[in-house]
This record gives sequence, C-alpha cells and structure tokens, in this order.
Amino acid sequence: MAEIKILSQAVADKIAAGEVAERPAAVVKELVENSIDAGADRITVEIKKGGIAYISVEDNGKGIPYDEVEFAFVRHATSKLRDIEDLFEIQTMGFRGEALASICAVSDVEIVTKERGADEGAFVTVNHGVASKKETVACNEGTLLVVKNLFASVPARMKFLKKDSTEAGYITDVLGRIALSKPNIAFRYICDGNEIFSTSGDGKLKNAILNIYGIDHAKGVLEVCHQELGVKVSGVVGKSELARGNRARQTLFVNGRYIKNHVVSKIVEEAYRNVIMTGKFPFFVLNIELAPSLVDVNVHPAKTEIKFANEKEVYDIVYHAVKNAIYKKPEINAVSAKPVSSEETKTESVNPHMVQEFMKNTVPSKGLVFSSPDKEEKPEENTFLKFEDLFKAEPKGKGTNLEPGPEPKAESVVTEEGSLIGTDAPIMVIGQVFDTYVIAQKDEKMFLIDQHAAHERKRFEILKKDYEERGVSGQYLLSPIVLEADNHEMQIALDNKELLSNMGFEIESFGKNSLIIRQTPLISDEEEIKNLVLEVIEILGESRPAGLLSFEERILDSISCKYAIKANKRLSAIEMEALVGDVEELEKDGITTCPHGRPIKIEFSKRELEKMFKRIV
Ligand code: ADP
Ligand code: MG
Repeated sequence: MAEIKILSQAVADKIAAGEVAERPAAVVKELVENSIDAGADRITVEIKKGGIAYISVEDNGKGIPYDEVEFAFVRHATSKLRDIEDLFEIQTMGFRGEALASICAVSDVEIVTKERGADEGAFVTVNHGVASKKETVACNEGTLLVVKNLFASVPARMKFLKKDSTEAGYITDVLGRIALSKPNIAFRYICDGNEIFSTSGDGKLKNAILNIYGIDHAKGVLEVCHQELGVKVSGVVGKSELARGNRARQTLFVNGRYIKNHVVSKIVEEAYRNVIMTGKFPFFVLNIELAPSLVDVNVHPAKTEIKFANEKEVYDIVYHAVKNAIYKKPEINAVSAKPVSSEETKTESVNPHMVQEFMKNTVPSKGLVFSSPDKEEKPEENTFLKFEDLFKAEPKGKGTNLEPGPEPKAESVVTEEGSLIGTDAPIMVIGQVFDTYVIAQKDEKMFLIDQHAAHERKRFEILKKDYEERGVSGQYLLSPIVLEADNHEMQIALDNKELLSNMGFEIESFGKNSLIIRQTPLISDEEEIKNLVLEVIEILGESRPAGLLSFEERILDSISCKYAIKANKRLSAIEMEALVGDVEELEKDGITTCPHGRPIKIEFSKRELEKMFKRIV
C-alpha cells in the first residue's frame, strides 16, 4: 500500500530550487536581479567552469541591514512585497523571496554585505542550507555573493548540465541581455579569468550594444520609439544585414525585465516581411513599457514569461513601432519591398481581427496577416505556378484538363525506370528553363533537373567522402577575413577548432570580439564566407541536430549549398552537360534527392506528354 509522507524540508527545498535555479545561468540571473533591485549602478560578475565551480556577483547597491542578513536566505523572505495588493504594482525584478533560499539549498554560499551608511558589514556562509554564525567585517557598501559547488549535492541536476563552455555561453547570453536592459548600470563580466565584456553604464543602449555585440551591430541598428495608448515601445531593430538564422539575437524587455514572448517575435518578424529573407530573423532589442498592473509576471517561476492584460492592443502597437522604424530609413528596403513613405505608414491601420487571427495561428501562413496591400509581391511565383500546373494537369479523358491535378509525390515521379542510366542511349541536353531547371532527354523520357539541388548534392557527396577519408582540405585566403562575433559564437568556434579544421576551416580568435578566418573549404566572396562561418557556428551551437542530418552532415551541406550553382543562373552548354553528368553519377549510387530529401529531377515520359496533349487516350 502506498504511504503518504511529508517530505523533509531539505528535500522539499531542493525540489523547489529546481524551479528557480535550474542551471548556472538562472542563478546568475537571480543574483544580478537582486543587485539591480538593490539600486546598484556597478555590478561585477565572475564565473569559473561554466558557473558550476564558482559564481560571484558584487554590487554597490544598498546592502542588507546587519540584523536581517539571515532572513535573506529563508524561503518567502523578501523585502519587496508586504501584502497581496503589492503584487499588482510590483516594479522590482524579484519579489517571491525564493531565489536565495533555493540557491543555498543546492550550493555553498558566502555573503558579505554592508548597508549604505552603516559602520560595519556582515559575513555569513551557508553550506547546502546550513548557515554559519554571522561575523562582523569591514567591507565596502553593497553586497558580494559567492556561490560555489553548485548542484554538488544534487547529482540528478548535475547530470542534466551541459559542457562547462555551453553553460558559460548561457550565462554570457543572459548577462548580455540584462546589460542591454540596463544601459545605466556598468556591468563587468569575467569568465575563467578573462574579461568577456564590460559596459560603461552611460545610459546609452547603442553603447551597450557596441560593448556586447560589437561595432557592426552598433552601426547597423535603427532606433524605435513609439508611444500609444499608454504603451511605449523603445529600443532598436537591426537593419537587414544583421538578420541571423535563429532568434538568439532577439531581446525583449517588458518594463525593463527580460522576457520571452514568441508572439512579439512573430509580430516583429511580420513587420520585416519582404525586408529580410525568409528563414532569417531580425536583430532587435526592444522594451515595452506599460502600467505594471497590466502585466502578469507571475506566470512562470523564473519570471521569463508574462501575460499582457490587453494583448491585442500591445501587439498592434509593437507592430507599428517596428514598421515605422524600418520604413523611416529607405536603405533597409533591401529585397522586393517598395519603400513605404512615412505618410503611408502613419495612416496605415491594422485590422484588430487580423491581430486576433495572428495570435491564434502564430505560424504565419501565406497571406495571413498584415500582408501589405502591394500586389506586386513575388510576381515570379505566379508564372512559376502556372507552368507547373500545366504539367500537373492529369486529363481524365473528359471535362477540362487544365485543372491542376493532385500534387505529384516526389517518389512517384522519380522512378527507377526513368533513371538517366540504364540504356546506352546518349543523354541530350535540350536547354534550361527559368534559369533554374535543365531540360534533358533520353530514350522516351524528358527530364527536368533542379540545377541547384543536383549540384548541391554532388558537392555534398564529394565533401562527405573527403571528410570521412582524410578531412576536407581548405584553401588559404590571400587576405584573411575578420568576422565580428559575440562571446558565445567565439566560444563555439574555438571549442570546435578541430572539427572545423577537418571541415577545411582555419579560424582563430582575433581580439575580444572577432574571429579571423584564414582558411575555408571554398573560395568565394567575403560576405558569403562570413555567412557560411556564421551558419556553421549556429549549427554547432544547437543542442541537437534538427531533421535528417547529423551536425557534420549539416555543416557539409551548408558548405555545399554555398558552393553549388544557384537557381536563377543562366548556364552554358558545357555547364549543363557537366551537371547532367553529375546527376548520372549520383543515380549510379542510388541518390535521387538533395541532402534535405527534395527531388533532384522529375521526369515525363513521351507517353505522358502525348496523353496531356490528347494525342492518345
Ligand atoms: P526576492 O528578490 O524575490 O525578494 P531573494 O531570495 O532573491 O528574493 O532575496 C531575498 C532578499 O534578500 C531580498 O528581498 C533582499 O532584501 C535581499 N537581497 C538579496 N540580494 C541582495 C543584494 N544584492 N543587495 C541587497 N539586498 C539583497
Ligand atoms: Mg531576487
């Protein structure tokens, strides 16, 4: 029979600790937020071994009164909340009084603190929940908190942690965002003895961006400032060249607190529609300010998720704020978008129902919301569709036959019998259509080959073979390329030096905020090489591979993709011959798709064409 038992306090504390202190970065966040709440304008954070061995946070805040130091470690002890009414007007970062108690339950903590104006400070140590006697010490005003041996007594949580460098990366990320949210606080961050960044605390967001992300980012941002209905949206959004393949560089604050909100990301991305390529995500640092009573911060124990009382209104205002910032500067309209005059932007209104729709369906589908009234969008898509539809038409012997039939399945058209190999008849290259597909003929078959997919797959196979046999050989660049990178990216690149070298890259650190690329597996223009390296770093930074391919395969594919003939490129007869030869070779190895599984070629038999033209039934 099951017996219900009440857990001991120590066990209950450790469980509760998991909610607040799930990993070193969460501990750093809590400690730094306490320093901010204490009114500090100078905060120094030092970590060792990804924060697992050592974290210290020192501030010049108001300190803790000598007589109250031991209360700070008690669960639900807080100086910030007195009764339930306060919950709705809370302005401080913390208020649950849980963080210190939780951290103490799973580590060894030392605290030295002196209240502003007091003569003496206090020193207390807590070893996995047990506090030492308080000592009186001479120290600076403010607080120093040192956390050692994090999770040493909780093996289950320890097991769940990643490599030290990965944990350090999370800390760098969270601290960078906090520093961006408080440009008026001077932050200094040291990891394993090296200063990673320091901000001046001069109150200027652009300077904080410069110190954290580097000069390209500081120069590449547009200011956002928009106020409506008691909601203020301020900060910066990046020009199109700062867009990246993931959302790691999107930072949102609500009333100065770092928040994760997927819908806001989507709304910002929607404002960028036609400005940056699909699959790329804009850089932004935005702060939404509104009455604290309209925000419920209590949704998540780590307080990184929130709910707005008037969501639709807030999202609408964010959309306008970002759109105004983007279209104020015409040079950002890089892709097909027509610059919208500021006059148009001002009068443009977003249907509130659209916002509602958007929130229901946060994955934007074709023409879902906010689609610009500009009908000239992607004209080439239409022509393309018509052409495809013509081939898809599957006459059933009666009625109209131009109705598009069902989408042909890749596997149903790429059949063994239609292979380019098989008979000895020569393959004839007929030509190229839309500068993208090569048309060839053999025996009684006609083939359409996707030039990019085919070439990418061929390069991929060659690189993979090289990689497996002796490593991809790189080529020395005549002039090495300097690439600006943040600390997390630098760490990833340096941690994976060997793997990268086997892929043909030679990359080293170059000062505090840059990497230097000396060797690459392909020679191309500087921008393309930079993009490739950033893409590779992004792949290496992911916690697990996505889709069919392994990490190594994805990197090799990135290289192949950059190397391969692009779509929309006119090919010479010789290039087309070579490409058809590549497809033949791939088919000999049974390969009929690009590395992502899309078909390289589709085919039509003479008979099928005859049926389409009703020459036969
Ligand atoms: P909360 O921040 O939710 O109040 P914590 O457990 O994080 O709870 O902190 C408990 C209390 O300890 C705080 O309310 C504050 O009074 C005090 N405290 C913690 N860190 C500092 C600090 N760096 N400076 C001044 N007081 C602090
Ligand atoms: Mg706190």
